[in-house]
Amino acid sequence: MRIAACVTALDGTEKFLIGLADGKKVESVLIRHKRTVCACLSSQVGCAMKCAFCATGLMGFQRNLSVEEIVGQFDLMESVGVKITNVVFMGMGEPLHNYDSVVGAVNLLRKKGLSWQKITVSTVGLPDGIRALGRDVQCRIAWSLHAPNDVLRSKLVPVNSRFPIQDVVMALLDFPARRKNEVMIEYVLLDGVNDSLEHAKELAVLLKQLPFVVVNLIPYNSVAGIEFRRPSQEKCVAFKQALIDAGFKTIVRTTKGLDADAACGMLSTRSLVQVAARD
Ligand code: SF4
Repeated sequence: MRIAACVTALDGTEKFLIGLADGKKVESVLIRHKRTVCACLSSQVGCAMKCAFCATGLMGFQRNLSVEEIVGQFDLMESVGVKITNVVFMGMGEPLHNYDSVVGAVNLLRKKGLSWQKITVSTVGLPDGIRALGRDVQCRIAWSLHAPNDVLRSKLVPVNSRFPIQDVVMALLDFPARRKNEVMIEYVLLDGVNDSLEHAKELAVLLKQLPFVVVNLIPYNSVAGIEFRRPSQEKCVAFKQALIDAGFKTIVRTTKGLDADAACGMLSTRSLVQVAARD
């Protein structure tokens, strides 16, 4: 494995194109905060989930990564001289669709000294995988929800037709008590699609079933070839306030990495391949 290319955003976020032994490539991201450095790791080359707004979904599924290839992204990024404090599995791929390798990687990262509170596995919502994860390994979990009802969610996240919202809620309620306290809800805000106050209120009703969630709102970063657009700042603020008024801790992900096209779940190797070809 090697770093084939790296671009740095204005805010210091670094996006890496990682070359694998068979010539395939994945992306990994380093996000720097005041006291922490978070690594966003890929678990697959491409993704089979085909979420309608996602650049990785456009690539289709190519193959799973091994434990070594997942942790290798961590090692390569540390080799540029940073100490990674947190890991999120929010890069390319659906982590629970590559279950054994992801569990192996979490265990290996814990052996490297990361506590379970510093490792988050983000899933689109595969109920059996969520239950298995809660049984097999200690880590935090995030659910990429993106819509407050099944009709809309099935359009945005096709796997919802197989595993509807309520099935995922039941699986999350089965997640071990200490860790389900930390469920992160990821919600990409798409202009005119899922960002109205009615959607926010519907989301609040849905989330009342889950104790201690934190909602992470992600204003969409436009992707070439995909029709969705980013909502206005005012709409994002109003959506956030509606959730806060309903009693939920809610954050809007800042534009970290925006100019490097480094939003989680939005990765495609296309732009970085161009950088690698240039260098
Ligand atoms: S958003 Fe995540 S699960 Fe959906 S297609 Fe993209 S990488 Fe896969």
